[in-house]
Amino acid sequence: MNKLLFFLLLFTVISCSSGQSYTEYASDTINLKQHISQLASAEFGGRKTGEKGQKLAAAYLAKYYSELKLEAPAGHEDYLQHIPVEFFNGRSKDKGENVLAFIKGSKYPEEVLVLSAHYDHLGTKGEDIYFGADDDASGNAALMEIARLFQKAKTEGKQPERSILFLHVCGEEIGLFGSKYYTSHPVFPLKQTVVNLNVDMVGRIDDKHKNNPDYVYLIGSDKLSSELHDLSEKINKETVNLELDYTYNNDNDPNRYYYRSDHYNFAMNNIPVIFYFNGTHEDYHKPTDTEDKINYDALSKRTNLIFYTAWEIANRKERIGVDDKKLK
Ligand SMILES: [Zn+2]
Repeated sequence: MNKLLFFLLLFTVISCSSGQSYTEYASDTINLKQHISQLASAEFGGRKTGEKGQKLAAAYLAKYYSELKLEAPAGHEDYLQHIPVEFFNGRSKDKGENVLAFIKGSKYPEEVLVLSAHYDHLGTKGEDIYFGADDDASGNAALMEIARLFQKAKTEGKQPERSILFLHVCGEEIGLFGSKYYTSHPVFPLKQTVVNLNVDMVGRIDDKHKNNPDYVYLIGSDKLSSELHDLSEKINKETVNLELDYTYNNDNDPNRYYYRSDHYNFAMNNIPVIFYFNGTHEDYHKPTDTEDKINYDALSKRTNLIFYTAWEIANRKERIGVDDKKLK
């Protein structure tokens, strides 16, 4: 072999296997804004489970993944998991849909990392539309952008080693039904589901952090797996370096957020989770939760943190372990 070619190849191999090659990928605020503008539009009418706006949102997400050429799981070729109306215990007047798309792992395809966000919201009351730009169009936009980055990396020869499922659930606002349906009718076996990263409200700044918008609340990261917690801390320090606020992770915190969003249905199945959250604000669950109030710089940094954390979970040598003492 030509000496020059040899060293060129060697250099390529070394640079590809060096830890942080993934930081060349980062979210684009223009895309994030486009997704939130659409999901939190008047046309989608507050995306209430079982209503027209929720169906439009599901179709928007499915079309996005189809155009991005992500795989639809076998048996869900339309990217939808249909939930019968009976499952909602009378809280929805029609059936619902979870939206799923995935990227197959190159080395451990049977091991799956689930990224989740709920796309339903509160609908309309009288004249008022509950737009839900932060809750949770922001989390959906983050997932869509993370999917685009993983897909881009894949086309550039960096397919993740584990599989990644992008799961947009409905029924959250009426009682975490979409995630409950997924975990009771899993499309990929729960035993092979390594981690759930759940993203619910990541586009705003709360009062406590008015002067330091580079933060995010993490909830649950150390509850089942100290390995996951340590990885999350390490990746943050090496990349985005946000202030990770654990206030709401405290078992004595009266808000009990650990039990209040979709990740909890995964945690109940002994799957380690991290819940990413910006805290509450004056527009929480009000018609004034609108797109113009989203802080895109903060949203973009949080999206990058979730993406880099997901990358590490998907590509590290060992599957994330569950702490023995915490096994049920
Ligand atoms: Zn929410």
